[in-house]
Amino acid sequence: MKMSIQQLFRPDVMAMQAYHVADASGYIKLDAMENPYTLPDALRAELGRTLADVALNRYPDPHGGGLKPALKAAFAIPAAADVILGNGSDEIITLITQALARPDAVVLAAEPSFVMYKLNAQFSRMRYVGVPLQADFSLDLPAMLAAIAEHQPAVVFVSYPNNPTGPRFARADVEAILDAAPGLVVVDEAYQAFADDSFMALAGSHERLIVMRTLSKLGLAGLRLGYAAAAPQLIAQLDKVRPPYNINVLTQAAAAFALRHLAVFSAQAAELRAERAGLAATLGAMPQLTVFPSEANFLTVRVPDAPALFAALKQAGILVKNLHGYHALLDNCLRLTVGSPDENRALVAAITTYFA
Ligand code: PMP
Repeated sequence: MKMSIQQLFRPDVMAMQAYHVADASGYIKLDAMENPYTLPDALRAELGRTLADVALNRYPDPHGGGLKPALKAAFAIPAAADVILGNGSDEIITLITQALARPDAVVLAAEPSFVMYKLNAQFSRMRYVGVPLQADFSLDLPAMLAAIAEHQPAVVFVSYPNNPTGPRFARADVEAILDAAPGLVVVDEAYQAFADDSFMALAGSHERLIVMRTLSKLGLAGLRLGYAAAAPQLIAQLDKVRPPYNINVLTQAAAAFALRHLAVFSAQAAELRAERAGLAATLGAMPQLTVFPSEANFLTVRVPDAPALFAALKQAGILVKNLHGYHALLDNCLRLTVGSPDENRALVAAITTYFA
């Protein structure tokens, strides 16, 4: 007797919706915090030659080839820290929750924040505790500390800056969480290239801190390379649940190549920061919009009717993220990825037309 699909799969998985990625073909794509720029021509040719030499017949180096020392040098990762690589930082979130998932272990995060914290808690059958942010998207520190004291989380995830809201939390608030947390604290610095602060200098010396980053927002989302830095005794445990060949040979080679040309990507990030400031000023001058401060490569805005503006932008060929419905604090909010100057002009023009 065969088992039915319902008998086979976990009820909570049966009840889930798959992570939805909108079909963006033909749109100006401002929905997923990607860098709008492709590689300059000279670099493309050089990358092509580099990848042609990769041994596709061999399994990848399980430790990332020379990538870890290259990352340490490029991103000022302290000597005291070890590094783990993930197939995107998404995978590192999964490794952390898998490794911590004792019965009744708790994952705690502010809400709204990156959805994968909660989803991975569920995948690993951990208990998830979400603590609402304040209306201005700052941390509610007393509520966070009370929840930490009550639930004794195995891990607290802090998105710094926070997706999908934009602001970076006050450093002192995150430090207070680090002091209070009984377990691990993951400071997720996915948007670090656009931010004014980092906890990386503490990685390795603070015994419960994991600083997680990604190359995705820097212009390499397609590579799928995330990394985390922490004390060696933490990385050693995470490494045990990591699939041995999780970083493929093309990613290893292309990431090493990108790090040798980091200046190109850093210049693009600087340009996007400047674009962000211009876009924030222009949109902020529109009386119908509230623009939240952002240290990421997106701006979260509140409008009178987010679903209607989302639809109008889509009609105009621009895809953004409609946050309405995700969380009460995101009522009538849209998340606008900062694009190229042309893309941002098109966005402003479409919003202006909509409100005219
Ligand atoms: N953390 C945060 C806060 C994010 O917003 C994202 C991507 N949206 C990620 C992690 C995952 O990024 P990746 O898997 O591309 O490294």
